[in-house]
Amino acid sequence: MITLLPEAKSVDEFGGTTAEFALLDLRPGTIGVLDWAEQRALAASRFWDLPSALSGDPDSALPVLLESGLDGVAAADLELLREQGYVLEIVPEGVTLRYEQRQGFLNGLTSLKLLLTTQDAATPGGAASFVLPTCRIVDHPAIPVRAVAPTFSWYAGYGRLGFDMQLWGYEEWVSYLNHCLDYKINQLNMVMYGYWPFEFDKYPETVFRDIGVEIWNGENARWLKVKFSHPNIVDGYLGHFLDLAHRLGVKVLAYVGLNSYNGGWTIKHPEKRMTPPAGSGFLNDFDSLCLSDDENVTYLLDSMRTIAGLGFDGFTLEESEEGFWFCECDRCRGRWHARASSPGEAKHLANWWLLQQIYDTVRAVNPQAIVGIRAFRQPPLEKDPEFLAEAVRSMPSDVMLFWAPALYVPPTEFDKWIAAFGADRIWGRDSESNAITSTMGRLFRVFDRNLVRYVDEPNVQSIERDIEQHLTSVAKRVHGINGYMFEWFGLFMHQWAHGNYGWGSRLDPDRFYLLSCEQAFGPALGPRVLAVLRGILTIHESQIPLYTTPFPFQANTMTDADIPRIRAAIDDHEHLLSEIRALRAQFAAHPRLRTWDNHWARLDNAERRNRAIYDLVLAALDYERSVDPEARAAALDRVEAANEADFAIAKEMFFDLNPVGETGVRSCMMPYHELKRVLRNLRHPDAQDPNPICSGIEALGWLWLSNGGE
Ligand SMILES: [Zn+2]
Repeated sequence: MITLLPEAKSVDEFGGTTAEFALLDLRPGTIGVLDWAEQRALAASRFWDLPSALSGDPDSALPVLLESGLDGVAAADLELLREQGYVLEIVPEGVTLRYEQRQGFLNGLTSLKLLLTTQDAATPGGAASFVLPTCRIVDHPAIPVRAVAPTFSWYAGYGRLGFDMQLWGYEEWVSYLNHCLDYKINQLNMVMYGYWPFEFDKYPETVFRDIGVEIWNGENARWLKVKFSHPNIVDGYLGHFLDLAHRLGVKVLAYVGLNSYNGGWTIKHPEKRMTPPAGSGFLNDFDSLCLSDDENVTYLLDSMRTIAGLGFDGFTLEESEEGFWFCECDRCRGRWHARASSPGEAKHLANWWLLQQIYDTVRAVNPQAIVGIRAFRQPPLEKDPEFLAEAVRSMPSDVMLFWAPALYVPPTEFDKWIAAFGADRIWGRDSESNAITSTMGRLFRVFDRNLVRYVDEPNVQSIERDIEQHLTSVAKRVHGINGYMFEWFGLFMHQWAHGNYGWGSRLDPDRFYLLSCEQAFGPALGPRVLAVLRGILTIHESQIPLYTTPFPFQANTMTDADIPRIRAAIDDHEHLLSEIRALRAQFAAHPRLRTWDNHWARLDNAERRNRAIYDLVLAALDYERSVDPEARAAALDRVEAANEADFAIAKEMFFDLNPVGETGVRSCMMPYHELKRVLRNLRHPDAQDPNPICSGIEALGWLWLSNGGE
């Protein structure tokens, strides 16, 4: 049986194979939109991880005829077939690839490569000898856009400085783009939050340049204070990357705040921030600008104009989910509050005024720019139909929705939005499982089963929920899906799910997990990789009872009843870690798979930290249970030792480890520092440090979740 993911629309298996061959001999047939030189260049690019297939022995070649034209081909969606689809016919004498447009050509080549790599991976050592199954494949996506949202910068300066892809240079981004194309993903919504990762001469203080950071120096076992600049500020590669993406049929949108975290402006000019209600306890007053200040509006529009000029295909503008208060300065009271019945409504009125100006500004630079918003996410989650009707009336009709409801509401809520806006304006939903993992300080979380008592978690995001959303989105024939990909290393399964289910596959998820691992890693290694990913049990450090600072993304507090589950994970640890290391060694010896090494490094680190965290939890539960003061003190010592052991492992490989507090609110994705404060306060009740270190800046907008809803 032929495995091809994203699952092809129609596969006719002829039951045989070609003879063995060493070279795919590409030959030009009818030329359409791509000339022969471009076809060869694109093919070389698509075979990025299997160049030997295009450079093998010409005496052992299988001809591949490249034919433009799809007339007469039957398919469920002829428009998408022409735009992005292809026909691949494989017989013993050779291959014919038929296509009409650039994306179809690339998608067809990708499928051809994937049919080869399954054979290649089955051969230890990856010998450059191939066979192909004889078949006829007619394939196209079910919806036009399959997007992922990677991070180019994320809360930079506001609570983080960078991890994973935010630290990449050009080469790493090209490699990631190739992985996207391998799953037929055709749009990147690149997140830029915080200090701008591009040059902006008019406002140099808002740029991600020379920002102070402490990095761990293992050689001397000490922190070094250095100045860090975003790799794109150092090397200026973004323009080349956008050009390459466009050539490969991939659109790239800038995913930025509508009025939040826009460059370093509110860090460097605190007086420009919104005015919170007097005496309120809201911590996140530092990311949004007062929109009654003309200089602020000029800055925001200059920012958007500059981004449009960089070559992005459009914008995803995210409205902050903070709806509990809005700027209370005199001018904002007069302009917005006076016409609104709640702070959320005042914010909304102001934001829609701003949206119209951004819309006009970016369309003046690029009349084709896609403009989308991610809005209306704050409680109440179930919207009044009249509210939605007003939203439709208040926006230009070609502003797209990069968010529509899915989680924490009945399925009918999505139908309500489709009825109000139309399915063709919906380009994304709540498929943020990977983004939730990226709040957890580099631990591993993909599947429900990676958590203790998943059913009790207030945040339900997991790959299973992402897949359910994609399935219903495609069933409703929306325009696009968007899957979050804030971290890549170790978390590739999320991306594969976005690609496969966005294409229109309805495969049973368990079958998909197995087949996708076999497609990437071969039938021998694939199932072993999947067993590792599903076997990891991750507890976040904040899940112990004595850690009281909110962390809404994995908030289920551990109890004595969880001890048997934790002990089972302790018993399984040595096996799991040795399997991670055995697989890493086998990948390292394989010419095509050795590029996956960073994924294994991350998994090795995460699993070792998990083991330290199990000790942390057991010690913390001992502390809670003990009444004898000496036993309690001893338990706290064990908590502290486990906290240090966990952080020592993290220090081996991660960059962004210490609290960032440039806004005045300290925050860190590593619970280590906050736990140290909690332990100090428990031991020294007479010398309390009352200032918590927030559990990641993004947690502040989500505290309603751990309070049980609205
Ligand atoms: Zn104001």
